[in-house]
Amino acid sequence: MKRLKQLIILFFALVITINFAACTPRIVVEPPQELEQNQPVPAEPGEVLQNDEPEAEQVDLKAIKANENGQIMILMYHGIGDKEAEWMRTADNFRKDLRILYDKGYRLISLKDYIENNIKVEAGYTPFVLTFDDGAKNNFNIIEENGEKKIDPDCAVGIIEEFKKAHPDFGSGGSFFVYYLVPFRQKEFIKEKYDFLIANGYDVGNHSYSHENLGKLGIEDIQKALAKNVKSTQEYLPGYDVYALALPNGIGPKGDNYKYAAQGEFEGVKYNHRAVLKVGSNPAPSPVSIKFDPVRLPRVRASEMKTEGTGMYDWLEHFENKPEKRYISDGNPDTVAIPESEADYVDKSKLNGKELLIYN
Ligand SMILES: [Zn+2]
Repeated sequence: MKRLKQLIILFFALVITINFAACTPRIVVEPPQELEQNQPVPAEPGEVLQNDEPEAEQVDLKAIKANENGQIMILMYHGIGDKEAEWMRTADNFRKDLRILYDKGYRLISLKDYIENNIKVEAGYTPFVLTFDDGAKNNFNIIEENGEKKIDPDCAVGIIEEFKKAHPDFGSGGSFFVYYLVPFRQKEFIKEKYDFLIANGYDVGNHSYSHENLGKLGIEDIQKALAKNVKSTQEYLPGYDVYALALPNGIGPKGDNYKYAAQGEFEGVKYNHRAVLKVGSNPAPSPVSIKFDPVRLPRVRASEMKTEGTGMYDWLEHFENKPEKRYISDGNPDTVAIPESEADYVDKSKLNGKELLIYN
């Protein structure tokens, strides 16, 4: 019905345009199908054309309910294993999660693209972020088959790669928050795994050196725990920018010391985390929202156990019921499109040169 109404309005608009044009001899009346948006408008003398390039395909912001001030889920996983538990998802359940997210219009982006508001998702789709804490073997496991090394098809990386291959428009990303001595628990493959991750759109993040409780440490020890992680990662990946920290057990340094979660230095090794992730239980704000605080980012538990109404499936249902809360891309990374109702909740200093489009 709505579509029909739009067509009727468009038809009358065209009739009026053509009639008006008929009284103005200078204007040549185009056949209706050519009055589409891709036709450049002839310039009046002295008028400067906005751009000579054919315009990108126009998106009906209202029809797709674009809302780039909506919420984004940063999903938190730990292990991928044989048995479902509070901190363990089975391989099949993880596959199910990816499938359901994909089917419901969610597309994978990197944590970095989220915090930098560099979100390139097709119009009408919703970005989400994948994170894994603790660097268990089942996050990235290399197995040998007939004398050949391969990625275990049931580990997290194996499952994501398989899904990406089957769904090339799924996107890419995924942050692995590791601690030492042996991230992913196969010492001989650490370098190889890191190289694979970086080459395939994943990140290696900080999860402290040995899973320290940062809430119990003094200033020096906080910096030691975080800088030693960065130093170790950079031994495998020289110069690598460890831009994100997931707080071990979700506990950050107390009071004024919290700032050392983001930045610090120990024995000449500096760290600069532009994203600090909590355990949390709710979706994160858009990177242009007045609520966006990149050093206190909440995550949604990707679990179906003991989530008390705050797990991934609860939030998926929430967004079905309240689609206006969900981030929906306008498909153009250079613009931030929002409905008028969101206008007061955008922090314009976070637009970073992007154009704000408000529709009602
Ligand atoms: Zn942990």
